[in-house]
Amino acid sequence: MILDCSPYAGACACGKDHELETRLVVVEYNAIANFEKYMEEAGLAGLHRTVIYDSIIYELTEGKHIKADQEIVLPAQGLRSEDVLIEDMMTRLDKPEVLIAYGAGTIMDFGRYPAYKLGIPFVAVPTLASSDGFTASICSVILKGQKKSIRMKAPALVVADLDIIKGAPMRLVASGINDILSKYISLADWKMSALVSGEDYCPMVAGLAEDALQIMRAAADKMAATGEVDYEAMTMAQMKSGLTMQLWENSRAASGAEHLMAHLVEMHPPRFEKAEGIHGECVGVGTFAAVKEYHRLAALTPRAKPFEPLKREWVLEKFGERLCDGIMQENENDVLASFDPQNIVDHWEEIRRIIASIPPVEEMEALYKAVGSKYLPEHIGIDPALADEMLPISAAIRNRLTLIRMCRVLDFD
Ligand SMILES: [Zn+2]
Ligand SMILES: [Zn+2]
Repeated sequence: MILDCSPYAGACACGKDHELETRLVVVEYNAIANFEKYMEEAGLAGLHRTVIYDSIIYELTEGKHIKADQEIVLPAQGLRSEDVLIEDMMTRLDKPEVLIAYGAGTIMDFGRYPAYKLGIPFVAVPTLASSDGFTASICSVILKGQKKSIRMKAPALVVADLDIIKGAPMRLVASGINDILSKYISLADWKMSALVSGEDYCPMVAGLAEDALQIMRAAADKMAATGEVDYEAMTMAQMKSGLTMQLWENSRAASGAEHLMAHLVEMHPPRFEKAEGIHGECVGVGTFAAVKEYHRLAALTPRAKPFEPLKREWVLEKFGERLCDGIMQENENDVLASFDPQNIVDHWEEIRRIIASIPPVEEMEALYKAVGSKYLPEHIGIDPALADEMLPISAAIRNRLTLIRMCRVLDFD
């Protein structure tokens, strides 16, 4: 399957002029065999190129390497997305005109970051598809010791060889399914926010995320029924979801209340010290909790109450001394203060309709079970006693409007 990305870029009905660095996404069995052809189609043939691997991937993909003017094989041991490591590698670069990153998420940052700094194109050859970061421009990197999500370069070309991707463990397949099923919540949050706060919204970008969701849902249903994994469909769903982050210049379409669970697990606030899971697993737990909570709320009737900033005592209690200042800072210009809470009440019928498009709790649970996904707090080391608290706590991590955050200005009968 080859996706020509050009139709998504340019002037849009939403009023924006969407930019997209990614020209072509190839998701095929044995795609590497035609790598040079795809480079040519993407306008990248003939450029002086450096191909970057880590040592494990380099060995595993013996016989499937790419022709290179310069090859860099980084030691897999201790490899992480950190400015000092990436900049150290950059001193070894032999004046490339294009960088090709061949591997998993971390190696992508070793292409994305230098390509951005050098102003040259970057090509992604992902070896797994357990999350939707490959086609995004966001780089999650340690800068001066702090983990930051910053905009870097998105790949001009993605070549995903399914013969390599199908070798990934089932745990990663299940994680990838979770990362895309999360769009049930992220898209609902975006629509609700547009309704009540007037946040910018793009039907085309939302539609692309919805497309990714439907592709993944069909593949997950097939896997649940037959045990068969449709790597082509699942990988393409990841790629499409990632493109929404490039088009919208942030992760709005792909990340709502549910994704904050992954941040919560990474941050390890008090009582969540033992939480542990890969990205999609944490996202699955967040999604399932939000599915339950959104359906519960839809059955209730809200009353508006005045906005109050997050109290420092609450933040200190939930996040501890180490994280308190950062959370307070994030919430300084609380999005909840930017509109009248009564708007939520006035749009409640529409909000109910949006929630009605999220599958019922039983359906989601059966699906997660059938594909072997993690979806309950205890699956990722969170005490089930914290189930009711984990959504409101995680909602404080990011100043983005979600239905969970809206609950701070609502009372329910
Ligand atoms: Zn648009
Ligand atoms: Zn994700």
